[in-house]
Amino acid sequence: TDPAIIRNFCIIAHIDHGKSTLADRMLQATGVVQPREMKAQYLDRMDIERERGITIKSQAVRMPWEVDGQAYALNMIDTPGHVDFTYEVSRSLAACEGAILLVDAAQGIEAQTLANLYMAMENDLTIIPVLNKIDLPAAQPDKYAEELASLIGGEPEDVLRVSGKTGEGVEALLDQIVRELPRPVGEANAPARAMIFDSVYDSYRGVVTYVRVVDGKLEPRERIQMMSTLASHELLEIGVSSPEPTPTKGLGVGEVGYLITGVKDVRQSKVGDTVTNLKKPAEQQLAGYEEPKPMVFSGLYPIDGSDYPTLRDALDKLQLNDAALVYEPETSVALGFGFRVGFLGLLHLEIIRERLEREFGLDLISTAPNVIYEVMTEDKQIVQVTNPSEFPEGKILEVREPMVSATILAPSEYVGAIMELCQNRRGQMGGMDYLSEDRVEMRYRLPLAEIVFDFFDQLKSRTRGYASLDWKADGEQVADLVKVDVLLQGDQVDAFSAITHKDKAYSYGVMMTQKLRELIPRQQFEVPIQAAIGSRIIARENIRAIRKDVLAKCYGGDISRKRKLIEKQKEGKKRMKTVGRVEVPQEAFIAALSST
Ligand code: GDP
Ligand code: MG
Repeated sequence: TDPAIIRNFCIIAHIDHGKSTLADRMLQATGVVQPREMKAQYLDRMDIERERGITIKSQAVRMPWEVDGQAYALNMIDTPGHVDFTYEVSRSLAACEGAILLVDAAQGIEAQTLANLYMAMENDLTIIPVLNKIDLPAAQPDKYAEELASLIGGEPEDVLRVSGKTGEGVEALLDQIVRELPRPVGEANAPARAMIFDSVYDSYRGVVTYVRVVDGKLEPRERIQMMSTLASHELLEIGVSSPEPTPTKGLGVGEVGYLITGVKDVRQSKVGDTVTNLKKPAEQQLAGYEEPKPMVFSGLYPIDGSDYPTLRDALDKLQLNDAALVYEPETSVALGFGFRVGFLGLLHLEIIRERLEREFGLDLISTAPNVIYEVMTEDKQIVQVTNPSEFPEGKILEVREPMVSATILAPSEYVGAIMELCQNRRGQMGGMDYLSEDRVEMRYRLPLAEIVFDFFDQLKSRTRGYASLDWKADGEQVADLVKVDVLLQGDQVDAFSAITHKDKAYSYGVMMTQKLRELIPRQQFEVPIQAAIGSRIIARENIRAIRKDVLAKCYGGDISRKRKLIEKQKEGKKRMKTVGRVEVPQEAFIAALSST
């Protein structure tokens, strides 16, 4: 295809502002999907995504569109919509010449819109501002057209107004894309270079890799090479999605499509990598490649120990489709055999956990999520700690923790409440701007560990749901961090160890010891519960002993009742874990871990 008639674009929007709905409407307007084939949100394939209304895996669709009698090919690249997937968003943007900045006309700009807009601007994309949901009675298109115009420059009258629901304005938007976005440019005769912006595992076809060709041409049956690993594969099939996969005779400059090589694992086809021709390779790979980097770690344990092999197989399967998912076996005194699993963020963790439970029927305990710490020991060794139990004993010279830069958008009346929250979480303010009289953008640098827990929930509740948040990794800092252990009768319970800031160690210790006192049943002997930093006890509770046998209570009572009680105790025993001499019901572990 002649690059002069190609337009590559994506839609950037905050969650729920209507990206998927608008994308569906475009598929209809351009005739690539017939109305009767239309199921809601064609592009969102996974059930969990559809239920949560979020798009995790991006895809590309080619749509024909005619303007002034000239046929064009529009490639729409769908970007993931959540902060955990920032890198994938950045690669999708890098595959485009332009972006539709889609804003809900009843909500205005939100943090994610802004973060993605900045990223689009860094990639030099042409921005088309669009207000969506103008059919809503609560829409305030005039107000938000001004907000948008002042944000990106331009006139409020030039902001397009559409409704993904009714289809109003969608054709005008397609015309605008053709007129305003630049055509792709590249060297047609140079060695091939194509950027991978997505790769998806398909159980029938193996990995399907989505690429944007920058230079040269890729053709079926030739051998290609992945420039980051130098691995080579045969191109079994190459084509475009429209929206069903349609093989072509190749992809040239500016074209967007998919390729299939028969590999079975997305880690062999990495987002951001450059594909070239093995016989005539390009000299330099395209800029911007990064290895996926897990940010948050948690232990996952089957509640029923015999499910361990199922859990391992399930993780193996999920990893085929998720280059960012990493895991290794780990054992816990308290929880038995499980895995330490790395995720891009908390949503990623939730999604994986939910899939393990739903698709593989597993019941799981997950330990409190933590980030990666770099600990320098006395002999100047640097230890990477992804699990509190790996925190080195003895003298420590320095601990470094990962940082993020966060953008928070909220009505200005909540500025005080947000500042207080961010200060509690050891944040440093980077700046503050008013987008309009009553909406403010606040920028903070915060430790990742302080936002992975319940930061977003706290932010929402302090702003009555009006604040939005976006964050991205931003280096690291030296911090005063310690490991707090929890001991039962002097024995450490590994699952409850946590790395916290020194100022918060005490409150963590008090909270855990109190919780456990309530959750652990009384035993034949007294059980001290302690929280400690090294050998220093910082909090203590006691579970008093019971003297009498439970059975004594029904002494002389009827036999069947007694038998029932014995049966019940046996049941309970099965689900008891023994720590030292202390028997702890499994439920106590789950309860203690769930709400921290
Ligand atoms: P996404 O998260 O940006 O992909 O948003 P969705 O496309 O999933 O839309 C979020 C919600 O807004 C859904 O309930 C849609 O039905 C609704 N929605 C999307 N576009 C419109 C619109 O133009 N008008 C109205 N009234 N509702 C819309
Ligand atoms: Mg969506």
